[in-house]
Amino acid sequence: MNPKTIVSVGSIALDWLELPDGTKGEALGGSLTYFTRSAGILAPVNIVGVVGTDFPKEGMNLFREYAASLEDLQIEEGESFRWGGRYHDDWENRTTLYTELGVFETFSPKLSNSNKQSPLLYLGNIHPALQLDVLSQMAFDDTVIVCDTMNLWINTTRGDLDKVLGRIDILLLNENEAELLTGIEQVPEAAQAIRTMGPKKIVVKQGGSGSTLISSDRDFHVGVYPIDKLMDPTGAGDSFAGGLMAALANGHSFEEGLIWGTASASFCVEGFGLEGLSRMTPETFRERVEVVRLGT
Ligand code: AMP
Repeated sequence: MNPKTIVSVGSIALDWLELPDGTKGEALGGSLTYFTRSAGILAPVNIVGVVGTDFPKEGMNLFREYAASLEDLQIEEGESFRWGGRYHDDWENRTTLYTELGVFETFSPKLSNSNKQSPLLYLGNIHPALQLDVLSQMAFDDTVIVCDTMNLWINTTRGDLDKVLGRIDILLLNENEAELLTGIEQVPEAAQAIRTMGPKKIVVKQGGSGSTLISSDRDFHVGVYPIDKLMDPTGAGDSFAGGLMAALANGHSFEEGLIWGTASASFCVEGFGLEGLSRMTPETFRERVEVVRLGT
């Protein structure tokens, strides 16, 4: 069976990263970029996004190589989205140094007719109003919709985020975000509270402790792949989502999706920016999937 197509929207960014060990520098980034690099070797990914005319050739080449369709990628006169972040000593929490929207400020996603019919939709981390815009264009009743978000939107755009939550199937978020969204510290209780807001399945990402799928059935927990050295956590969430959605695209269960997501995120955190994912091939990925499965 050929894998299903995943339509995916998110940010495409030029990042500035500062890590606790003193490493700092520019990197290609954005939620859509990490997602496309990880999922794109396992299933067709049609991207929906925007870049400015300053976007580097290297970035365009990445999308040409790993996305199946660039039809809904807009190239607008102006500057690409830029984000700077500094990680705290725990390597998990981070402070945003700056967010420069550039062409994102006036971005109006437009889905082609075939993308509107996609069986799988990934709403990567962007303003919930843009996620809603994409949702409103979908024209297929049975699309499985997976969504990621971040503390910024929970704090600043709760109204729009609540509308998104009412229309999605699966929400991915980390422990801190689950607490921020619900005011509940314990993960299982927080996830059950989020289920009453709309998504019937919640995946809580717990950093070095793994991830848990919470639905009406029993909770399903997956640990982490034992990496050599944590280099840069940026994009781990999007790479996790990439693996998870690729599993769904290949006809697997959500539980298998957690295993694929864990394996794919493990490549991401082993290198600066997208460098770690450059070692993710179908073969190395499958090896890690088996290691993660054995530990589950
Ligand atoms: P993650 O580490 O999985 O949360 O993803 C990191 C990526 O999110 C970085 O490459 C950033 O460019 C991107 N990012 C950071 N802040 C935002 C934002 N407000 N909207 C969209 N993307 C963002």
